Order: sequence, then structure tokens, then C-alpha cells
Amino acid sequence: MLKKIEHIGIAVKSLESSNELFKKLFGKDHYKIEKVESEGVSTSFFMLGETKIELVASTTPDSSIAKFIEKKGEGIHHIAYAVDDIVAEMDRLKKEGFELIHQQPKDGADNKIICFLHPKSTNGVLVELCQEKK
Ligand code: ZN
Repeated sequence: MLKKIEHIGIAVKSLESSNELFKKLFGKDHYKIEKVESEGVSTSFFMLGETKIELVASTTPDSSIAKFIEKKGEGIHHIAYAVDDIVAEMDRLKKEGFELIHQQPKDGADNKIICFLHPKSTNGVLVELCQEKK
């Protein structure tokens, strides 16, 4: 079962200028900046009540974020849902016919292990599952 929206990921060209923009929008600053080397991205997180907003910028020209921005421009990139047991959820969703991008959970930003579902099996929305690291 997916428990709640953990965060919404927004693809941006420049983390620096978008941090300033979203700081003005939210009236509060981000609480962390984190590089995810394996994905070729740099991220920042804003806490809004129970939900977070993650800004994601590419650090290499061939990252999936760079390709996304090239194709679609900046904007909403993914919705991340919190799960208690990511391996069990990956199994369940695979059986339901969803296509997983990763067959094994991997390390994500913000102390999470994560997995993405392919948007072609979820009405065009890139879905991230995330489980808090214990
Ligand atoms: Zn995310």
C-alpha cells in the first residue's frame, strides 16, 4: 500500500536560482541540499507541512533530468509515495502489471531507499516509491 505523498519532484535548470524562487514562493528556505552521484543530480528539499518539495537539477549532461528538461522543459518530474516495505510493494506492483525502472531498490536522497515506476505504465506520471532508511 502507498501511504501518502512523501514529496513532489520538480525538475529545474539551476538549483541555485530555483532555491531562491521557491524560498520566495513558500516563505521559507530549503532544509537540505544533497547530491545523488548515481543519478547525476543535485537536489534540495523544502518541508511544507507533511509533504516535501524536492527540486532536482542535473549535474551531468546525460542524466535523466537533463534529458527530461531537454524534452519537456522545467516542471513537475515525479510524485513520490511513502511505503513501509519497498521490496514488498515492488513485488505487489509488478504483479499488478506495473513496469519498474529499477528491479532492485537503490539509495535516494534524504535518507531513503527508492524505486521508480515507468511512466508508460502509470498514465504518464513518473512514480517514485520511497522507504525511510532504518
Ligand atoms: Zn524524489
